[in-house]
Amino acid sequence: MFEILKINSQRPEKCFIQKAVKIIKKGGLVAFPTETVYGLGANALDKNAVRKIFKVKGRPLDNPIIVHIAKIEDLNLLARNIPKDVKILVQKFWPGPLTFVLFKKNAVPDEVTAGLKVVAIRMPKNKIALEMIKKAGFPIAAPSANLAGRPSPTFARHVFEDFGSKIDLILDGGRTKIGVESTVVDLTVKPFQILRPGGISFEELKKVLPDLRLHPSLLDGTFKGKSKSPGMKYRHYAPKASLILVNPIRDSKKWDKVQKGRISNGVEGKEQVLRIQNLIKKYQKQNKKVGVLSSFETKRFYQQADLVLISGSRKNLEQIAQNLFKILREFDKQKVDIILAEGVPEKGIGFAIMHRLKKASQG
Ligand code: AMP
Ligand code: MG
Repeated sequence: MFEILKINSQRPEKCFIQKAVKIIKKGGLVAFPTETVYGLGANALDKNAVRKIFKVKGRPLDNPIIVHIAKIEDLNLLARNIPKDVKILVQKFWPGPLTFVLFKKNAVPDEVTAGLKVVAIRMPKNKIALEMIKKAGFPIAAPSANLAGRPSPTFARHVFEDFGSKIDLILDGGRTKIGVESTVVDLTVKPFQILRPGGISFEELKKVLPDLRLHPSLLDGTFKGKSKSPGMKYRHYAPKASLILVNPIRDSKKWDKVQKGRISNGVEGKEQVLRIQNLIKKYQKQNKKVGVLSSFETKRFYQQADLVLISGSRKNLEQIAQNLFKILREFDKQKVDIILAEGVPEKGIGFAIMHRLKKASQG
């Protein structure tokens, strides 16, 4: 029988963890919070349980799933030929939003990796997730707990919106802290490559791995190149409305110079605002309901729009990341036809935000 349990994120109640573990041991599905987004978990070593994840999400069968572990030794259970750099990466970033792609061992079912010879592994930084994996005693495969293609869930209610009672349990541990998924790094190629930007920034990783590259499909800005990480090729993270990403910003110093309701001349933020104002008019003439994904500083410029939702302050990209998926879902609830989204500078977590917005705007 389906259940949602409110669970303490600092001191997770043992009885709730036990309940979750019991379900997972029997081959069931449990949605649980991580620091990035909510995951839909199953026993990673049970191929039938993993198949259920694909079925319930409507996930394309060629899109592999990240395996979550709670102790570092489990890396050796799942992966082989592990490069020595993993040690320092683990010391610095685990538990946390960093996923390694490594050559897989036979213990990992083909269902998890969608037939690939490599497996993606991470240790999440969330007490509920860690307790659950520890008590289960085996790794847990978990993609984001949303219907395939939809914005990822950052609240338990988003999981319920997508699945209702089609899964066995939702552990409600409140909002997720980071709001975008983990950074995926391929450690099976030299130099190592980022396959998906996420919670740990390229800049932070470069400090540890100076040779680190971006996968070419991330470089051309369209993400249309041949993808190594199969999930990257799909329209993703997407609201039902058409999303138009306006003026990706290159110079962050100019972007956040919006003060007291005025934007000084010649700054990139101004071009973005003017362009959005024009697009509001254009689409309203076509009788479309137009929403704007705005920063706190620029909301006042979009009074003509049918709905303006604020992702956060231009001075705080972490806040924008945390709110992003919740707001995309909110636009759908309010049934807008068009979302005009302000691009953000592609620095720090801004790179992950822009990646999600670009993917959401495809198609
Ligand atoms: P999600 O669980 O929804 O955050 O999606 C996980 C993403 O991680 C997938 O879409 C892939 O892009 C990536 N991924 C998972 N497993 C692998 C793998 N074995 N090789 C390459 N990328 C992977
Ligand atoms: Mg996902």
